[in-house]
Amino acid sequence: MNVGVDFGGTRVKAGRVDGAQIVAAESQPTGAGAPPGEVLDQIASLVRRVGGAPSKVGVAIPGEVDAAGRCYRLPNVPGFEGVNIRQELERRLGLPVAVENDSTTAALGELLFGHGRAHQSFLVATLGTGVGGGLVIDGALRRGAHGFAAEIGHLLVDSSPSAPVCVCGLRGCMEVFAGTRGLMARYAELAGRAAEPAAIAELAQQGDAAAARVFAEMGRALGVALGQVQKLLDLDALVFGGGISASFALIEPSLRAALRACAFGPPTAEVPLLVSALGDAAGVLGAAQL
Ligand SMILES: [Zn+2]
Repeated sequence: MNVGVDFGGTRVKAGRVDGAQIVAAESQPTGAGAPPGEVLDQIASLVRRVGGAPSKVGVAIPGEVDAAGRCYRLPNVPGFEGVNIRQELERRLGLPVAVENDSTTAALGELLFGHGRAHQSFLVATLGTGVGGGLVIDGALRRGAHGFAAEIGHLLVDSSPSAPVCVCGLRGCMEVFAGTRGLMARYAELAGRAAEPAAIAELAQQGDAAAARVFAEMGRALGVALGQVQKLLDLDALVFGGGISASFALIEPSLRAALRACAFGPPTAEVPLLVSALGDAAGVLGAAQL
């Protein structure tokens, strides 16, 4: 039996996993602001608490790692750049550890336990503060040469010099419009008051024009970016996960319209748009299979 860890910017979750079932789970708020050594101690202690004498541990992180487990970038948990997360956890736990980007891990969970049972080549777009991507082609997970494949949130959708600046430093990235950070900023700009994504979704469902417009803009940005992905890869499904995917019905019409406007051939625009069946469990389930 393996343990999967979902190391998020706000919570760390560990689960003992048997196939597609989480049989024991523990979670805590992430010690953000604490030195990396303390956060790694916290992860190791959660792994011990789920127990069950695991044979290996997989960890999903909201950033990029190389094949050896060294972290390139972890924007929401400071201090981890250059830290070899795999070596540090192996030393603490005395077990083999694998570390992978969380969107890539979610794609692995989807491949084994979700829409991968019916689809061979698909992208999992994780919609949250930012927008991540994980890629499966011909039934195999693809991470790229350095683990940076499918960083779809940073595909360019607005090349004008006045486009909003992204957390990556460039202007006009898709996640500036399709991430919850951008969604909330745009709603505040249009409505003149702030609201959380779930409240904006509820307003949109009740017919609030500003709320409906920000979701339509989100769908359009996703569709423009994914239209380019379809020209490159001709996938047979696009899967959407993460918190905001609960509001997918608000995004879908403009997403489909933008795909149709951008696509090279009709079949690539009519690709099935699916919501992940794994929900919150995708990170832990996928990580346990790394
Ligand atoms: Zn960016």
